Amino acid sequence: QMTDIAEMMEDVVDRFSLQLRQKAITAKVQVDPGLEKAWLDRDGIDQVLDNLVSNAIKYTLDGGSIHLAARLNEAGQLSVTVKDTGIGIPKKDLERIFDRFYRVDKARSRSMGGTGLGLSIAREIVRAHGGHIALDSEPGVGTTATVTLPYVQEGGEAP
Ligand code: ATP
Ligand code: MG
Repeated sequence: QMTDIAEMMEDVVDRFSLQLRQKAITAKVQVDPGLEKAWLDRDGIDQVLDNLVSNAIKYTLDGGSIHLAARLNEAGQLSVTVKDTGIGIPKKDLERIFDRFYRVDKARSRSMGGTGLGLSIAREIVRAHGGHIALDSEPGVGTTATVTLPYVQEGGEAP
């Protein structure tokens, strides 16, 4: 459906307001003012954003921050990023992170809850949407997830 990107991003943060408050994590949302409404499978993309924000909160220590941003990239695609100041992911694990059930530190992850399916499902949804998802991370500094989607406006052809 035609989606107001800024509203969609604010809504994600609202859904996590309790967890954010519990960990004293601040969340900032930045949407390029030039962005207009775009055609998106709203349920699917909400599920993707929920997973990325849930990961960002889960793997960020108390008092950290997360930053959501949306803009058009050089190729004219919609680029949505979820950036955190969390524990990060070691380079050797980055390429396996989208595998089903893959989790970086089994002992640590078990205590955090979850199944290790979130990112693999997110990637399936994004691909079905004609898009791309990637994670970039530096241990001890933080992680940035980037979702790239076709930017289809009113009257445009849905992918
Ligand atoms: P689920 O999403 O099923 O509840 P999960 O969050 O462990 O469980 P994924 O979302 O697929 O599973 O993520 C896989 C693994 O990637 C995580 O277990 C974690 O080790 C690592 N990871 C994902 N996002 C981040 C992040 N923002 N910071 C640090 N590590 C991350
Ligand atoms: Mg997850």
